Amino acid sequence: MNKSYPSAGQHLDITPKIDFRSDTVTKPSREMRAYMCEAAVGDDVYAEDPSVNQLQLKVANLLNKEASLFVPSGTMSNLLALLAHCQRGEEVILGDQNHIFSHEAGGASALGGIVMQSLTTHTKGYIKAEQIAAAIRPDDSHFAPSKLICLENTVSGFVQDQAELEAIAALAATRGLITHLDGARIMHAAIKSGLSPAELTRPFDSVSLCLSKGLGAPAGSVLSGTKAFIKRASRLRKMLGGGMRQAGIIAAAGIYALDNNVQRLQQDHDLASYFAGQLSNIEPIEIDLASVETNMLFVTFPLAAGKTTEQSLAKHLLKSAICIGDSQVCRIVLHLDISREDVDSTLSKIKEYYHTG
Ligand SMILES: *Cc1c(COP(=O)(O)O)cnc(C)c1O
Repeated sequence: MNKSYPSAGQHLDITPKIDFRSDTVTKPSREMRAYMCEAAVGDDVYAEDPSVNQLQLKVANLLNKEASLFVPSGTMSNLLALLAHCQRGEEVILGDQNHIFSHEAGGASALGGIVMQSLTTHTKGYIKAEQIAAAIRPDDSHFAPSKLICLENTVSGFVQDQAELEAIAALAATRGLITHLDGARIMHAAIKSGLSPAELTRPFDSVSLCLSKGLGAPAGSVLSGTKAFIKRASRLRKMLGGGMRQAGIIAAAGIYALDNNVQRLQQDHDLASYFAGQLSNIEPIEIDLASVETNMLFVTFPLAAGKTTEQSLAKHLLKSAICIGDSQVCRIVLHLDISREDVDSTLSKIKEYYHTG
């Protein structure tokens, strides 16, 4: 399952009508654009952009942290966290399926000299406190000192067990380690679990939240933590070239997203379950229904009888401008630009592929 992500560089020659590759493909709605148009702006490098300040305060309150920082992407948000928490030669412990380890171009090591110790992640995305306890380096001059533990929620659409996260945070506290949560889709976890974002992120010293993953903003993430941590992160953001000027135009999209697009995530979760249930009735598709928790599903689409790899389901769907990843285990992601009608028309194209030669 962890090898099933679509390649980040995937480029299509057509404009997809229905795009299941990721929840990053959503386009800002008319209402969101209107809200962005009206945003009050200033120079955010001088901390004078009212909309950025409003968004940062909003997220700090939402997660019950002292302060927040608006940044261009989730990758930069995580990178700032790692750089602000660790010195060169210090070690972060994380899961091998976690985005920071597998999908952020090794930035923490390349740019920060931070050593990444990756632990084997369970299919549902978790690593256990006991795995981490065994991985923390003893104080010995042979080893890079363990400094930080990074976790993620959701991972591949799976909500992480809160009791285990609490146990890991308790372990970190007794061993003098810092904790960071990559909460790119933490709002999906909140909707699914019924726990508030503040409860979910309480065990962590810092948290990153994405506004462009299913919440529908065109760009932006918010990093949260203590005031001192955010001050360090702010300097690092400038160093990396992430200091934006009238960024309130984009921050406004984030405010709009948090005000309007969180409760509706339930619809994406419901549609993912519906899609999975319908797929399970189509021969010869294999799908584990229990693996659908939020807005993602993972499906193996075999070639239809007598077809070659050039005639895969993904290529068949593309003729109708429906886009899914073309990997062996396909990740399908539901989001606010996909309706029940879109799912139904996709299902009929899938049936056509398997049952009409
Ligand atoms: C997408 C994602 C990120 C990075 O966000 P970008 O805005 O694409 O840089 C980080 N962590 C997780 C879990 C993600 O899914």
